Amino acid sequence: MEVRELTCVACPMGCQMTASIDNGVVVSVTGNTCPRGKKYAETECTHPVRPLTTTVKVNGGKHPVVPVKSAAPVPKEKMFECMDVLNNITVDAPIKIGDVIVDDICGTGIQIVATNID
Ligand code: SF4
Repeated sequence: MEVRELTCVACPMGCQMTASIDNGVVVSVTGNTCPRGKKYAETECTHPVRPLTTTVKVNGGKHPVVPVKSAAPVPKEKMFECMDVLNNITVDAPIKIGDVIVDDICGTGIQIVATNID
C-alpha cells in the first residue's frame, strides 16, 4: 500500500489530503472537504493532468504572439511535448477567440484554442 500526501488545487482552500493507493488503485482519500478533492486525488494519483496555457507566435497580427489554452487538461507526461509543438509553430492573423490553433495536440485528442484576438 502506497500513501501519498496531496494538496488539493481545485479551489483556494488547498485542503491537505492523504490518498492510499493499492496496486495502482486509489482505495481511500482523507482530508478533502468536498467531493472535488477526492476526484482530484484520484486523478492525480492515477493519471495526472494539467491545464496548458501559453502563447503562440503570430504572423501578420497586431501582436507578435496570441495567448492560447488547452480545451481540456493535458496529461502531465505530455506537457513538455505539447509545449515544444506550440513553441515551434506560427499562425497567421486574423485570429479570433476560440479559434482552434492545434487540433489533437500530440495525439491527446485535445484542442489548443486562442483566448484572445489578433
Ligand atoms: S477538497 Fe474541496 S474544499 Fe478542499 S481544496 Fe479541494 S475543492 Fe476546495
